[in-house]
This record gives sequence, structure tokens and C-alpha cells, in this order.
Amino acid sequence: MECIFCDIANKKQEANIVYEDTKCLAFHDIHPKASVHILVIPKKHIESVNDAKQEDAPLLGELLLAIKEIAAQQGVQQGYKLAVNVGRKGGQIVDHLHIHLLGEKDV
Ligand code: AMP
Ligand code: ZN
Repeated sequence: MECIFCDIANKKQEANIVYEDTKCLAFHDIHPKASVHILVIPKKHIESVNDAKQEDAPLLGELLLAIKEIAAQQGVQQGYKLAVNVGRKGGQIVDHLHIHLLGEKDV
């Protein structure tokens, strides 16, 4: 199975990584739609929210807690948007669950 985000997590594909822990990874989106546009992913391959299982609940929580840290590190702690596209109809192009973190730097 080929997955670009698994490749990034496994360091087989380059990315501008801004955060990493044992379960989560975050890197700059290659086509940013805001001055800060980070993708936050679980290292585990889960195709989409629709494919998450009950056992993934703690991991999904870890992603949100990682985002809190990343937002502070990226200077958008005062406010930002999170977006998760699900399925082609929902605008999902990369089939590895990811959360878009979009914001403008705090002043
Ligand atoms: P989505 O439409 O939610 O599946 O979003 C996929 C996002 O991944 C898009 O915003 C792309 O710009 C981004 N993207 C695709 N390939 C890469 C990559 N190799 N490195 C960083 N971001 C990527
Ligand atoms: Zn994957």
C-alpha cells in the first residue's frame, strides 16, 4: 500500500516537520492556504475518520493535544481553524487521516 503520509512518518519522503512524538507527526502543507498551514497526522495509518475504530479513541485525543502545542509553537495560539476532510465528497485527497491547522500569526 502506497501512502505519502506514511512515507513522511517513516522518513522515506521529505517534509518540513514541526512536531513529532511517538504517535503523532506534524508538518507544513506543501500548498499552504494560510500563513500557518500545518497537517497533523497519527503515525498509524488510518484512512479517514470513517475508518477510525474505538481502539483509536486515545490516539485521536492525542492528536488534539498535540495541536495545542503546535499552535503555541507556530504563534497562532490566540486562534486558529481545524479542518478534517472525510472522503472524496468531503474534499479528502490524501487517504491518511489528517487535521489541517490553519491560522495567522498572533500579533
Ligand atoms: P486533503 O484534501 O484534506 O486530503 O488535504 C491533503 C493536503 O495534503 C493538501 O492540502 C495538500 O497540499 C497536502 N499535501 C499533499 N502532499 C503533501 C506532501 N508531500 N507534503 C505536505 N503536504 C502535502
Ligand atoms: Zn498512511
